[in-house]
Amino acid sequence: MLDNNLDPDVAEHPEELVVYGGTGKAARDWRSYRAIKASLEDLEADETLLVQSGRPVGILRTHEWAPRVLIANSNLVPDWANWDEFRRLEAAGLTMYGQMTAGSWIYIGTQGILQGTYETFAAVAEKRFGGTLAGTVTLTAGLGGMGGAQPLAVTMNGGVAIVVECDPTRIERRVAQGYLDVAAEDLDDALWQAEDARAKRQALSIGVLGNASEVLPYLIARGATVDIVTDQTSAHDPLAYLPRGVEFSDWPALRADDPHGCIRRARESMARHVEAMVTFQDNGAEVFDYGNSIRVEAKTGGYERAFDFPGFVPAYIRPLFCAGKGPFRWVALSGDPRDIAATDDAMLTLFKDNDTVTRWLRQARDKVQFQGLPARICWLGAGERDRAGLEFNRMVTLGKVKAPIVIGRDHLDCGSVASPYRETEGMADGSDAIADWPLLNAMVNVASGASWVSIHHGGGVGIGRSIHAGQVSVADGTVLAAEKLARVLTNDPATGVLRHVDAGYPEADDAATTQGLPIPMHAP
Ligand code: NAD
Repeated sequence: MLDNNLDPDVAEHPEELVVYGGTGKAARDWRSYRAIKASLEDLEADETLLVQSGRPVGILRTHEWAPRVLIANSNLVPDWANWDEFRRLEAAGLTMYGQMTAGSWIYIGTQGILQGTYETFAAVAEKRFGGTLAGTVTLTAGLGGMGGAQPLAVTMNGGVAIVVECDPTRIERRVAQGYLDVAAEDLDDALWQAEDARAKRQALSIGVLGNASEVLPYLIARGATVDIVTDQTSAHDPLAYLPRGVEFSDWPALRADDPHGCIRRARESMARHVEAMVTFQDNGAEVFDYGNSIRVEAKTGGYERAFDFPGFVPAYIRPLFCAGKGPFRWVALSGDPRDIAATDDAMLTLFKDNDTVTRWLRQARDKVQFQGLPARICWLGAGERDRAGLEFNRMVTLGKVKAPIVIGRDHLDCGSVASPYRETEGMADGSDAIADWPLLNAMVNVASGASWVSIHHGGGVGIGRSIHAGQVSVADGTVLAAEKLARVLTNDPATGVLRHVDAGYPEADDAATTQGLPIPMHAP
């Protein structure tokens, strides 16, 4: 899975060990990478490797139920948790940015975010456009590892997407991987194609080369009408957001020579970018922050109304979190796409009465090209993930797939994140910044028998703004694996239900009752 994260088809910049999300890395440096691999190859079934921000620091005697790897990435004591101090430590070779699934070795390429993005746009369609995006235009930016899912998620909902991206190689990559339909020649061409497709109610995604902080204000000035506006540039790290007036080819030198000036200019540019987003909202468009911290950066850059539009979690996703639903995913270690096809079939049988799951799986198997090892994302809730995991383990035992199946999830899950600008924005009880939950989640997964468990800081929204945890478990077909999977895949989403019960969400109460979860201080 470490190597899969760094597969050239999977990682955005594998030569620098960067997997996705700005500078999210799989290992601190190449020496650490080689040492991690050598350690894993020799590790006994009762030993645990410790990884500190991408560097293997020790192997301890534990027991068979303990995780084989424990990972802590990018964590800093709160008073020191800012980008300046992080970058100082990173330059000294003492830490690395782990993002969410980069440093925890369960990234599966752009598919990993596709279903969440698809469901988000489906929720937008439901809320504003009669259940479909047909006849609408979505304007967004960023065609990186995660942002690259946006165009396909919009077209899967029947709509037109214009995606602004400043790096021509990212546009080419998304077209080659089937996530983006066409690359426009210029902005006029993009607008013309979008209008034509909107009029015909055809689905179409269009990539256009440009700087979002220049293009969006220009579109406002031109009076362009768009229906939905969001953004997935790497705004969480102002050094990874191209400032206005800077040529893409000049950017690396500017970053190296004058990082502070570059950050200041990026924040000012984000202020103009977000100002244009708010103007689109004033003009009637549906506008939301897509989990990249652009509102807080724009506010720092001097734009007062930055928080006038909501984040996507409170706007569309929280009801799913209340039911313990989240981005469950699995990977075929055989490398054979037929193994994922077999698991898709098994899921379609297991969840034949669940319309969301079956509708998603049918579209995904038709439209998603694999990157690296064949894999599948499918959001499942508490009471569902353990059933899927046990079925996969049974398939391994019976030889219905050729090798073990790795089962994991994004850190962006129901009970595993404290992130007040994203997953925990606007919690009902005001508990947005309480970070005990992701730590409890990690400890629960260690105690339940996960194969590797990680605690990270700063993923998604940047240093100082989030704490989150992940678990990955291997279904190797053994009885022991079945016992561990039953516990991990029950308890992991259960922490999400508990977190939302505690915050006072009635939907979470229902899920807790259905799951029979004992909650000591919960008044029925
Ligand atoms: P990435 O670094 O792979 O891609 C970011 C892209 O933005 C790059 O291709 C870059 O060229 C482009 N870009 C930068 N400045 C630009 C500008 N001014 N105009 C146009 N394009 C510009 O990152 P990613 O993995 O795609 O993630 C994007 C953001 O979304 C990150 O902030 C990440 O933390 C966040 N994220 C969101 C979710 C979610 O669920 N919503 C999940 C994971 C990550």
